[in-house]
Amino acid sequence: MLYDNIAAISRRITDAAARSGRKRGDVGLVAVTKTVDAVTIRKAFDAGLRVFGENRVQEAREKIDYLGGIPGATGDVQWHLIGHLQRNKVKYAVGLFDLIHSVDSAALADELERQASKNGGVQKILVEVKLSDEETKHGVAAAELEHLLVHISGLKGLALRGLMTIPPFFGDPEEARPYFRRLRELRDEMQKKGFDLPELSMGMSGDFEVAIEEGATLVRIGTAIFGERG
Ligand SMILES: *Cc1c(COP(=O)(O)O)cnc(C)c1O
Repeated sequence: MLYDNIAAISRRITDAAARSGRKRGDVGLVAVTKTVDAVTIRKAFDAGLRVFGENRVQEAREKIDYLGGIPGATGDVQWHLIGHLQRNKVKYAVGLFDLIHSVDSAALADELERQASKNGGVQKILVEVKLSDEETKHGVAAAELEHLLVHISGLKGLALRGLMTIPPFFGDPEEARPYFRRLRELRDEMQKKGFDLPELSMGMSGDFEVAIEEGATLVRIGTAIFGERG
C-alpha cells in the first residue's frame, strides 16, 4: 500500500516535472507525517522516503527522538517544519528542523535569529506568502514581502532559501494554478532584486502536479501517501 502510493506519487512527480522541462531530481518530495505514527514513518523510510514534514514542533520532537534510532538513518533523513510556528516554540524548533517553511514576520525571524545564534548554527528557512485573503491563513502579504526579505537578509543566523504558499482549497486543482504561478512570479521579481530564492514550496496531495508545472521545487504530500488523516 505505502510502497504503491510512493511509487505512484514519484511517477506523477516525474511526469509533471517533464512537463515543465525538468527532471525528477529537481523536485523534492516532503512526506507530510502529521498524525502519522512513528512506526509508519519508519516504513516510509524503508520504502525510500528521506524528507518528512510536520506541522507541530512537539509532535515532531517525539517522532524525531523515536526515529533517531534508525541505524544509519540520522545523516540521511531531513525534517521540515511546514506548519505555523509560534514564537514561544522557536527555541525547540531551531536545530531540530533542517528547513522551516513558515517564516512570515520580522518578529518571528528575529526570534529564530536569537535562538540560532545561541546554538552557533544557521537555520535554513522559507518565507510563507499569503496570496489569498482568507482570514485563517498565515503568511506575509505580497506587498510586504520585499521588506521582510530585506530584514531577513540582515540576520546572520538565518539562511533564506525560498518561498512557500498554501492556496485556498479547491476541488479542481486548476483553480490553484494562478496562486502557484503568482508565487513563482514573485520569486522571479525578488531574484531580480538580488535575493537568492532557489526553493518554491508549493503543492499538496490534491494539486501538486499543477504546482510542479508552475515551478515547485518542493511538494508537501500527506494524504496521497499515507491515506486520509483520522
Ligand atoms: C497537511 C499539510 C500538507 C499536506 O496535505 P495533504 O493534502 O494531506 O497532502 C501540506 N502542507 C501543509 C502546510 C500542511 O499542513
